[in-house]
Amino acid sequence: MTTPHTASPLSPVGAHVPVSGGIATRGLAYAAAVRAETIQVFVSNPRSWSRGPGNPAEDAALRENSALPLFIHAPYLINLGTPYQETATRSAASLEHALLRGEEIQAGGVVVHTGSAVRDGRREGLRRMRERLLAVLERLSPSSPPVLLEPMAGQGGALCATVDDVAEYLDMLEWHPKLRVCLDTAHSFAAGHDISTAPGMRAMLDRFGETVGADRLELVHANDSKAQCASNKDLHQNIGAGRIGAAPFAELFRHPVSSGVPVIVETPGPETPHAADVNTLRRLRTLGHTASRERGSAGWSAAPSPQAPATAAEPVGAPAR
Ligand SMILES: [Zn+2]
Repeated sequence: MTTPHTASPLSPVGAHVPVSGGIATRGLAYAAAVRAETIQVFVSNPRSWSRGPGNPAEDAALRENSALPLFIHAPYLINLGTPYQETATRSAASLEHALLRGEEIQAGGVVVHTGSAVRDGRREGLRRMRERLLAVLERLSPSSPPVLLEPMAGQGGALCATVDDVAEYLDMLEWHPKLRVCLDTAHSFAAGHDISTAPGMRAMLDRFGETVGADRLELVHANDSKAQCASNKDLHQNIGAGRIGAAPFAELFRHPVSSGVPVIVETPGPETPHAADVNTLRRLRTLGHTASRERGSAGWSAAPSPQAPATAAEPVGAPAR
């Protein structure tokens, strides 16, 4: 069976870009240097609770000079599952700030980590998260960008790491219409999804389609992993230089659940390695679509058979392990 190819859209491929020096001045220059088709930014220091007001001139320049799909990553400190009230209050304020900035710069979504129970167990952590996140969602203006929940690698007390966890997490939040998902390939791998082969990547995306639904996937963080599968360690690596390898990403571009969804790298930078990662992914995108057209449901594997089209197998080469 051959999937009708022309109907499946191409995912834009881009990078998380630095914005010190201005979200437009620096961010767009960096985006151009790495040939990003989509970008992600921080709107405040990701390791602090600071809430910068933004620079209206830079915001205006960004909107005037760029049509790239744009996403915000909220600070890492945010944890809506925390047992500590002060952290909870700051987390909600920090997320609301990022969402407000998202509205100002017309972001397509605000990525936030799904959090940790810290102590007293996942069930209690989920209960606290539910109460606090629903309160934030209820206060959102209708023109706010959606909240993109990013599952974690499964480290200590994580509330959400695997695809099945995502379904449970969304269920706790009553499948609120302002919620979407940002899947990070390094996190999924560390959480136990062995996506280091095309069938493994396909199995994870199939599961996502079944339990969460393709319409909830808004963004993918495409990162290779320095850490092993199921290690629960969050260690990003450049595409093809880690334990996932480059090849399975072709399946990501091909699969109906993720095809057309923007893909952002958060790998070690700066410009030269980011440009290489974006370029590698763009070639895998072509390959993924070529494979889906030429080989139908047989897909494309990390170790192409000798019968595989030579033109399709050559540009990427064997993934470095
Ligand atoms: Zn990520």
